[in-house]
Amino acid sequence: MSSTAHPEDHHPIPASTTADVGVLYIVATPIGNLEDITLRALRILGSVDVIAAEDTRHTRQLLTHHGLSRPLVSYHDHNEMGQAPRLLSMLQAGKSIALVTDAGTPGIADPAYYLLQAVIPHAIPIVPIPGPTAAMAALTVSGLPMERFVFEGFLPVKSGRRRQRLAALVEETRTVVLYESPHRLLRLLQELVEHLGPERRLVVARELTKRFEEVARGTTATLLALFQTRTVRGELTLVIGGSQS
Ligand code: SAM
Repeated sequence: MSSTAHPEDHHPIPASTTADVGVLYIVATPIGNLEDITLRALRILGSVDVIAAEDTRHTRQLLTHHGLSRPLVSYHDHNEMGQAPRLLSMLQAGKSIALVTDAGTPGIADPAYYLLQAVIPHAIPIVPIPGPTAAMAALTVSGLPMERFVFEGFLPVKSGRRRQRLAALVEETRTVVLYESPHRLLRLLQELVEHLGPERRLVVARELTKRFEEVARGTTATLLALFQTRTVRGELTLVIGGSQS
């Protein structure tokens, strides 16, 4: 297998496959540790015409850390409807664009979908630059079965839809990966005990790749008891064993 299998790899400045249009790169960036970025991601980030970033200040820090500097424009949940047509015009004018978010892989509980929907009908080449995602990092250290798994992202905040999603997990036989914010963790752990029972296997992965990285393994009940004794801080990914695991 060739290590330079992608057409873009042969050009220092990314070449488009369709005459005169640019390439949209979907670039994964670190979920904490700034070293978790691929050589290819750095090369693309250093050579595109524009980087579309969820938070331009945050991305500038990443670029500076790696000695890079490119023009940044903002693209996030609250401006995507206005920005997607602008980014599409740039691509149609032959500019290459890298889409990044604050952490991990764009589109995974992060903005990207709207832009892709806007760009795909115009036959713009879209190239993935894969890398970290918290869901995969947590899953791979969880010790729970990995052959089949479901990514649930964030559960809905509103109680009716949240209960529905939790109810659907009762019979789920696959391992489930969830994102949650620290101030809602205790509520979620209580809900998991209530819906899935106290014995369901559970892993809480906190601050992965960062200084206070922690992987707490146990059951719904033991991890509720653990986190009730302390103030929960940092970024959290939960991995829940399937109903027969
Ligand atoms: N696109 C990102 C990805 O690929 O993982 C996810 C973005 S989502 C807005 C942010 C959530 O991901 C956090 O609230 C947390 O649940 C999870 N997350 C991000 N970084 C993490 C980390 N270092 N450790 C554990 N979970 C993390």
